[in-house]
Amino acid sequence: MSQTPAISSFRRIVVKVGSSLLVDQTAGGLKREWLEGLAEDIADLHKDGRDVLVVSSGAIALGRAVLGLPRGPLKLEEAQGAAAVGQIALARAWSEVLGARFMTAGQVLVTLQDTEERRRYLNARSTIDKLIEWRAVPVVNENDTVATSEIRYGDNDRLAARVATMMSADLLVLLSDIDGLYDKPPAPGNDARLVPVVSRITAEIEAMAGISASELSRGGMLTKIEAGKIATTAGTHMVIASGRVDHPLKRIAEGAPCTWFLTPANPVTARKKWIAGSLEPRGAIHIDAGAVRALRGGASLLPAGVTKIEGAFGRGDAVVVRGPDGAEIGRGLVAYDADDAEKIRGRSSADVLSILGFTGRTEMIHRDDLALANE
Ligand code: GLU
Repeated sequence: MSQTPAISSFRRIVVKVGSSLLVDQTAGGLKREWLEGLAEDIADLHKDGRDVLVVSSGAIALGRAVLGLPRGPLKLEEAQGAAAVGQIALARAWSEVLGARFMTAGQVLVTLQDTEERRRYLNARSTIDKLIEWRAVPVVNENDTVATSEIRYGDNDRLAARVATMMSADLLVLLSDIDGLYDKPPAPGNDARLVPVVSRITAEIEAMAGISASELSRGGMLTKIEAGKIATTAGTHMVIASGRVDHPLKRIAEGAPCTWFLTPANPVTARKKWIAGSLEPRGAIHIDAGAVRALRGGASLLPAGVTKIEGAFGRGDAVVVRGPDGAEIGRGLVAYDADDAEKIRGRSSADVLSILGFTGRTEMIHRDDLALANE
């Protein structure tokens, strides 16, 4: 396939911004003007009703500049401390540049477990969902101050891919200091050529990535290819483009050189397939006829429609949903553990707080977490 999609055709876009774009290595500060331009591009996409999420690197690099730390590798606690200083400045900058264009920024700091453990994943996703519902722009980074080497992403390419798939985004844009994937690592004088479209990540594509990490950003082309695998498997398209230009998103729309990683899937279907096919159900939820109709009409499962709970499942586990005659209606990830689900079954969502003593999710199973049989 040689046709590349238009950015404007996507409905939910995650934009990952690399450290080297945001932080001036020599002057040591934030590249404010560049960021203003990017914020304008984001505003253009956002005002047309698209959801935009930012995954911004730069905490460590900025903290390093603010603290005047010397060049060279940082020890873990130094990187964590630098991130603590830099993240404040970074969040403030995003809040200001988005705010100036009538968008509200919401800072979301996540750790590896927040995206990899299903229970915590549902939690992180609901928070980000709420921000999106409010039309805010989530600005995500790894929580580098507490992430230690064994339990961290370390690079925001893969983090951004996980955020994109977690939020069922249909496009991930990786803005970096390179304009895409070359058929061999580009070097002065060699004839490396940009690959405009990757329709499948093969061993040959991986070999092209080689190894090239700049000092500021952790992710080289290899982590971008890893990100591409995560994204495209889950139905999210990805594009790698240069952020070393003003208005980088507009430039992609205008046809600037870049590499598209295409996926035949769509994020919602890919996720539902995963729920329907690859998870071992831990229990069952029986529902009444009204709820069956509501689910088939595209609604979420509310506690009110639940008649019986079976099994000892935990929050975030997969369960089978059964209709009044016991037939399987579908499978989903449940937002309550079995004990709490038992307490609130048949009750209205408004009663959940008084029954459980905490405000849980409105839905027993959110419709995005529900794969109906024969769908
Ligand atoms: N989370 C790191 C930071 O904000 C960046 C990791 C990366 O460069 O990909 O400094």
